[in-house]
Amino acid sequence: MLSLKEDFLKNKIREGGEKMKLEEIKRLEGIEKEREIRKITDIGYRKEDYIEIFEICDAFWMYRGKGPHALLTSGKHSDGYIDVSQVLRFPNLRDALTQRAIEEVLFPVTGSKVEIDYVVSSSMAAIAAGDGVATYFRATFVYCEKANGIQKLKRFEIPDGAKILQVEELITTMKTTRQVTNAIIEKNKSVEFVKDENGKIVVLTLVHRPEKLPIEYPDYRILPLVELEIHNWDAKNCPLCKAGSRALKPKENRNLFFKI
Ligand SMILES: [Zn+2]
Repeated sequence: MLSLKEDFLKNKIREGGEKMKLEEIKRLEGIEKEREIRKITDIGYRKEDYIEIFEICDAFWMYRGKGPHALLTSGKHSDGYIDVSQVLRFPNLRDALTQRAIEEVLFPVTGSKVEIDYVVSSSMAAIAAGDGVATYFRATFVYCEKANGIQKLKRFEIPDGAKILQVEELITTMKTTRQVTNAIIEKNKSVEFVKDENGKIVVLTLVHRPEKLPIEYPDYRILPLVELEIHNWDAKNCPLCKAGSRALKPKENRNLFFKI
């Protein structure tokens, strides 16, 4: 199965022909930029390469000493902003990045023979990532969705004995991840989660962005393709405000955050 997938990806690269340099793609605008982004699959294997893909897709921004900083939905101020959906909306990038996460990050922990019947994610943004991972394993994909603000497995059943891999697109705190585990167990206690050698539940994610790294969780093993610290502050204690930077909502001020 692995070699099939590799051939598939190589063919896709060949079909795309000569790739525009990534720096040139960044300078494009509108549909031209989208067309070029859709062709990208031959990316490097370093964290920096993945972050560059995120930047080209307007999915990642980090405060670099000037300009505004991010006002989050929670009301907190932040020096970073990540919206993985902006990458996952390109199916070829979704396939390439989920494949990388599986082969580069998951397999070293679980081995490539890991048995997976069900992939389960939260909703909404994680659905594309979970679907990509399930496609790779030819597994079944189901997702939780919010009921009264909590992730629940509303529209799917999971049979006894099913081997489950949890997948997220982005993990900041463990709140959503824990809700998904609980939602699965609430539906069926007789399932088996993919675990690491210490018995911790494995969660595969494209991005892990806690406030402080390194971080260990007592009951989970987070396996991220990209991991980085992003800091949040209450408005009154924000050092970036004190330094004269304005706090703005990235989604409403895309041109200020994502211009070259
Ligand atoms: Zn601030």
